Amino acid sequence: MADKKWIYLFTELEEVEKYVGGGWDNVLGLLGGKGANLAEMTRMGVPVPPGFIITTEACNAYLKAGEKFPAGMWDQALIALKDVEVKAGKKFGDPKNPLLISCRSGAKFSMPGMMDTVLNIGLNDVTAKGISELTKDERFVYDAYRRLVQMFGSVVLGIEDEAFEDPLDEYKKKRGYKSDTELKADDWKILTKEFQAVVRKQKGFDFPQDPFEQMRLATEAVFKSWNGKRAIDYRNAASIAHDLGTAVSIVTMVFGNMGNDSGTGVAFTRDPATGEKILFGDYLLNAQGEDVVAGIRNTTPILLMGKELPEANKQFLNICATLEKHYTDMQDVEFTIERGKLWMLQTRNGKRTAQAAVKVAVDMVNEGLITKEKAIMRVTPTQVDSLLHPQFDMAVKQQATKEGKLYAKGVNASPGAAVGRIYFDADTAEKKAKDEKQAVIMVRPFTKPDDVHGMLAAKGILTSEGGATSHAAVVARQFGVPCVVGASDIHVDLDKRVMEADGKVVTEGEWVSVDGTTGEVFMGQIPTISPKLEEQLELMRLLDWADEISATPGIRKAPEGWPTRGLQVWANADYPADARRSRSYGAKGIGLCRTEHMFFEQIRLPIVQRMILAESSEERTVALDELLPYQRNDFEGLFEAMDGLPVIIRLIDPPLHEFLPSQEKLLEEVITMRVKGEKKGLAEKEDLLSKVEAMHESNPMMGLRGVRLSIMMPEIVEMQVRAIFEAAANAAKKGIIVKPEVMIPLTGHVNELKVIQPRLEKIAKAVMAEKNVQFPYKFGTMIEIPRAAVTATEIAEVAEFFSFGTNDLTQMTYGYSRDDAERNFLLKYVEDGILPMNPFQTIDRDGVGRLMRMAVDDGRKSRVDLEVGICGEHGGDPESIEFCHTIGQNYVSCSPFRVPIARLAVAQAAIKNKVK
Ligand code: PEP
Ligand code: MG
Repeated sequence: MADKKWIYLFTELEEVEKYVGGGWDNVLGLLGGKGANLAEMTRMGVPVPPGFIITTEACNAYLKAGEKFPAGMWDQALIALKDVEVKAGKKFGDPKNPLLISCRSGAKFSMPGMMDTVLNIGLNDVTAKGISELTKDERFVYDAYRRLVQMFGSVVLGIEDEAFEDPLDEYKKKRGYKSDTELKADDWKILTKEFQAVVRKQKGFDFPQDPFEQMRLATEAVFKSWNGKRAIDYRNAASIAHDLGTAVSIVTMVFGNMGNDSGTGVAFTRDPATGEKILFGDYLLNAQGEDVVAGIRNTTPILLMGKELPEANKQFLNICATLEKHYTDMQDVEFTIERGKLWMLQTRNGKRTAQAAVKVAVDMVNEGLITKEKAIMRVTPTQVDSLLHPQFDMAVKQQATKEGKLYAKGVNASPGAAVGRIYFDADTAEKKAKDEKQAVIMVRPFTKPDDVHGMLAAKGILTSEGGATSHAAVVARQFGVPCVVGASDIHVDLDKRVMEADGKVVTEGEWVSVDGTTGEVFMGQIPTISPKLEEQLELMRLLDWADEISATPGIRKAPEGWPTRGLQVWANADYPADARRSRSYGAKGIGLCRTEHMFFEQIRLPIVQRMILAESSEERTVALDELLPYQRNDFEGLFEAMDGLPVIIRLIDPPLHEFLPSQEKLLEEVITMRVKGEKKGLAEKEDLLSKVEAMHESNPMMGLRGVRLSIMMPEIVEMQVRAIFEAAANAAKKGIIVKPEVMIPLTGHVNELKVIQPRLEKIAKAVMAEKNVQFPYKFGTMIEIPRAAVTATEIAEVAEFFSFGTNDLTQMTYGYSRDDAERNFLLKYVEDGILPMNPFQTIDRDGVGRLMRMAVDDGRKSRVDLEVGICGEHGGDPESIEFCHTIGQNYVSCSPFRVPIARLAVAQAAIKNKVK
């Protein structure tokens, strides 16, 4: 153990690489980000003050041994310090020409401000005099000395900041000083003594005069700060492992406060807000680093540095360019100029906004710095998402939270920010939005298909019940309406027209702000910022590259006959307008058109109800004949919008009672009429009620719906198939290339398909013969029931394609109700770690995913070219998308607004899993 190397000089990077077996990631792991980059800059010939790094292994050994340095570490530190002394031409603790050092924390992943740093170590009563003589600048020296006592006091000895701040403020007041810059040498001398007295008083011992003691204690403090509360909280929030440890960099101090040929600053090599290629940052003439960060003096924009410090500025610009080239990314740097000489104190990849992330990535490809693949990997799907939805200004939101305006939290169902007045039913919401041009937030306990018109008119949707796949969530995402669901702290009182949470009441017509990206709801109006895809040229470019990569044949390893390109992105779209939007967002097909949504339109619903309540097949056919032209029109619009691309249309899926008035409401009306003795219309109402009662099912989600409904009432789907093929034929005759795919939902047994599919195919063929056109088509099924996945081989003998309906498949595999689970227990399950994630948002690979993999494998045993996709909500979730890639699917289908995110995600999946 004693031979183990715990310390590396900045000049010993090769040794580090040898020890960790190469790889920058491993170097970062051992030296921490700050140390590794200081060493790397040293190797590149960039001026870095001499120094050394105490490794993360030393930190971990120290913490493990109950806060004791590992054997040999301190001796190695002293030897390294000797080397630094030689390079700096100064000696640590020397009364005449003392070396001063800083002791800086630096973990593998940047944890800004979470751990500790101590500057100016090496100053004491004696060395302070020595440097004063050397520099002829007592003011600077005693300013530095008091900073050391203050920082050491707070960081190492744990004394509250105020213990130092208060006497400083008092002193300034007494002397009539407004800012620190007015204090003279003698003032700082007095304050240094005062600060030393603070240490004595608070700790019962003197501020250590021995520089080595200072260095030892500071190092220990940095090590210990790894386990400080701030650091632990940050790691939890940023998913950083707790066992990495921090390294310590011991760096020769250089001073920017040694006159007007000195200065210090921080800069980004590009604008971190916009990504524009201009240097961005601030500097201060004659100041120390903390002054820039602390904002006590007005800083100067970095672009003006050339005027005051031309030589150093020139060198600085060159170094910035070199660093960008070397790291092939935007850098965030810190530097100091000491009497005209430039020193670099830090470089790291700069944090940036989503807009900057995209622009920097695309620009760097154009500049030949990185490959397209690298650019794609550098932008996160969440960043793409945030670029497409209006967002709240973070700072304003934080302020609102501070002011107690955060009202409730729920599931972040559909991203984006919405501000509006609340209304509690769809008709009022629509009226207020359309007639009065109000910004509306529709609030309901939950939504149903007949609420859709209100939801579409609203800027945002808020429900107190339901989860990520509830009706409100699905519809909101599909139409890009920001939405928070399952905000269970809210009680919605539809009678009183108010909502209440934690005693705070918001009345209908009052303003709220809904953040669908985070699930937060605020009282009042919070300003938003809103973007458009077609205006975001860099994002469009990046997504084009993403498509290029996904379409590369051979990028995916696959058995013979399976797709070897990456996934395609299709969209879930019901109406031609959605289809057009999807296409403009880059969708390569429609993966799900939920035909029943069209039945809810105002003119159609009465016909649909007549059709459902018909007492004979003939009566039903009359109603269906009326519906057919509507459906044909809808479909024709879809085919036109998707000219040349596949369009999957799903036959009717929900239980029929969803199209009828609610049983409770009817009963209430009937009773009221009876009590009031109203005769007119009573018989019809009673008849309707008894029909609705007859259709009642205890468990409608598992009842007469999907393919079962098709078998029991074939007339409905026969009409739909006729409408689909007539529409396709009409479009084809106009020269449009049509590729209809008819999807049968909720199959559980192959025999169900065997009964219904041939009957429908016969209609398809008949229509083509009648219209005298031929075009390719497919009949296939959704895989939404575990039994269908398990018997995929048999099912694929009949079905020509599979589409995973993972909303239902998750519901049925877990046995969790997709409408209630989140509200009742699921969110708690996730919070407590009982489940690793919400399975309605991200595919549960071990359970639902295993069924999916089996279904693909087995399905392709019967039909090697079986087309497989996904159209559940998971189709727009990047992690689920990667899973779909690995099991060999052809495409993912998601709501139009998620298409751009999915395009990036499918390319990332292809790159990550690329055949080597
Ligand atoms: C599904 O179940 O995943 C699906 C797409 O169908 P729906 O959400 O309409 O039930
Ligand atoms: Mg379903």
